[in-house]
Amino acid sequence: MVNVNDFGRITKGKWYYLCCLLLLAVCLLPCLRADAADSDFGDRVDGMAEIQGLRMSNTEDKTRIVIDADQAVTYKKFALRQPDREVVDIPNAWLSPKLKREYTPKSHYVSKIRIAQFDKTTVRLVVEHKVGADNIKVFSLRGGKTPMRIVLDFGNLAPDSSQAKIALPDVKPAPKPQAKPVPKPQAKPQPKPVKPAQPAKPAQPSKPAQTTKPAQPAKPAAQPEPQQPASTLPAQEAAQNGDGDKTDDDIRAMVSLEGRKITIDPGHGGNDSGAIGPTGIMEKNLTMRISNELRRLLVAQGATVYMTRTTDTEVSPKHAAASDIEELQARCDVANEAHSDIFVCIHMDSFTGPAARGTTGYYYALGSQQSRDLADKIRQGVIDQLGTQSRGTQSCNFYVLKHTDMPATLVEVAFVSNPDEEQLLNSEAGIRKAAQGIADGIADYFG
Ligand SMILES: [Zn+2]
Repeated sequence: MVNVNDFGRITKGKWYYLCCLLLLAVCLLPCLRADAADSDFGDRVDGMAEIQGLRMSNTEDKTRIVIDADQAVTYKKFALRQPDREVVDIPNAWLSPKLKREYTPKSHYVSKIRIAQFDKTTVRLVVEHKVGADNIKVFSLRGGKTPMRIVLDFGNLAPDSSQAKIALPDVKPAPKPQAKPVPKPQAKPQPKPVKPAQPAKPAQPSKPAQTTKPAQPAKPAAQPEPQQPASTLPAQEAAQNGDGDKTDDDIRAMVSLEGRKITIDPGHGGNDSGAIGPTGIMEKNLTMRISNELRRLLVAQGATVYMTRTTDTEVSPKHAAASDIEELQARCDVANEAHSDIFVCIHMDSFTGPAARGTTGYYYALGSQQSRDLADKIRQGVIDQLGTQSRGTQSCNFYVLKHTDMPATLVEVAFVSNPDEEQLLNSEAGIRKAAQGIADGIADYFG
């Protein structure tokens, strides 16, 4: 009896065990299937690239469409007729729901742009165009740690107007042997983008907009700047020497800045030089030059721009006699009194060693989500243009970000203490790209 009872109990236990297993299998099956394949088009499967941006720029010569992905992607392209369409399929990709799906650009070359999640793992871009196959170029771009981009050009494409013309670093295959009014520091046809060569990041780069500012430039003016601050130079010079991208040929977001009020704050000025690079380049002059070019770009896009300073001076009416707080508050006042929509403060980073490099976006730790977005987008824009390494978007307690009433960011464009980045920024091409990157970020923010 004992044996029989035991046997009976064991048998019951087995059945119970089997039933549980079955039940479990039935319950789990749909979940497993959903993960593998049955996901809705709106779901992002793990590991897929996210298509985060679709931008367009127009010039006389061409219409450029840029697709931004957050990681490396491949693509397949093919043509369809009636109407003429260029199709780009991006496998293993997911279309961000934030993206607008259809555009009707004002362009001589392109009549309609559509982007969609074609199937669960493929994003498809379809461009209706009015040009022949020879007038279309599709290629991808990748620079350092920046996101992947797929670029489509439609228009009167010069034979050499592919990668070379718009790659990230200062690129021009063959600098034209023209007499140039200003010596160009970088004559290399293909200088490397600033590569993340250093394994260890320094813990603390300079904190520029803190309430402490360097009392006096550490170095006397023994090494003057090879180039002038040049508040009016960049645009004309770009047109003259044809170096790098023409400013009207840059990638711009599909957004007008009409009616937007933007305050630009070029860091430092006057008695406060900011950081000084290894060859004597002063931060205050680079921030001024970038800011002037940025103003030009923003005004061209319809924005109203306020500058905290337009010359090499302090902003406070007390000038050099102003306290640190007074000087920084004067900068905030410009933005606050103008009821600016955004405040963009421009600095160059610095560190004791030469290795530190890259671009950082800052927002006030207790500030708005918009400030964080703005910081993030401007940092990304700069990286896209300059090919610098990303140091991320970071929270901070900088005075000017804390005491401005609108979304505000401080961008450390690059390290003036790094010889490569000092050189890169102390060039018209570097200044233009930095400004264009910030403008792209702003357009992205308002877009
Ligand atoms: Zn600074």
